[in-house]
Amino acid sequence: MEAHNITSSVVVAKALGFAPDGVPAGKPCACAMCGLTIQPGDMSAPFAVGVNFMDDLSLASRGSDVICGHCAPLISAKGLMASGYGAFGANGAFPFRKWADIASALLEPPEPPFVMVYATANNQHMAWRAPVNFSREAYRVRVGLRDLLIRRSILTGAVDACRVLGEAGGYSTAGKKTLPNPFVMLSSDLKEPEHGRFKRMGSAFFEAGGPELKDAFELVQQLTLGETWALRFVLTPDAGKSNSTTSE
Ligand SMILES: [Zn+2]
Repeated sequence: MEAHNITSSVVVAKALGFAPDGVPAGKPCACAMCGLTIQPGDMSAPFAVGVNFMDDLSLASRGSDVICGHCAPLISAKGLMASGYGAFGANGAFPFRKWADIASALLEPPEPPFVMVYATANNQHMAWRAPVNFSREAYRVRVGLRDLLIRRSILTGAVDACRVLGEAGGYSTAGKKTLPNPFVMLSSDLKEPEHGRFKRMGSAFFEAGGPELKDAFELVQQLTLGETWALRFVLTPDAGKSNSTTSE
């Protein structure tokens, strides 16, 4: 199989239209941050970070003293701001802040190779250490410091499973933007420990029974953390104007 000399920084910088920055490298080396192989003549810059840099453990090539021309613009103040939230693919950069935008990117990812990131802190370094995806059917999103797996067909099926379980459990949509679901809460930044916890169901839920309920329960139980995170957005189709990190 062909080896890909591609990293998340290449994907994100290209999608944002950032030209490689720095000076032509004199010898072959590897980018300290994303690990890209740098050939003589490729743009590169010194690896120089401030005392506040806390991400040493994420460095792909800790011994290297250079970074690639794609990482260089991404770690500028402007680059960090532009790459904290986004779905970045071969066909461009897509917004990933409003819940409706996030939902549509999760359900219809960009053209591979693509990268999805969702920062959970200000000026968080996201782009250079995110996973690169080559499949739109099973892909990973970087949320804060975590890389989360999403299987698209499971996510799509989970919407209906959530409805079945939520309705059987007496979920009322009155005053809520979120579609029926069986969870105590769904958190957009995963900071709440209650995220994805199953609600305590009343006797009506168990009396409802039936194969539909059983199938729905089985599907929801096998959801990954990435898929329950994705449900926060996918189950809230009308929250398009909200940047809010609170639920419901
Ligand atoms: Zn790099």
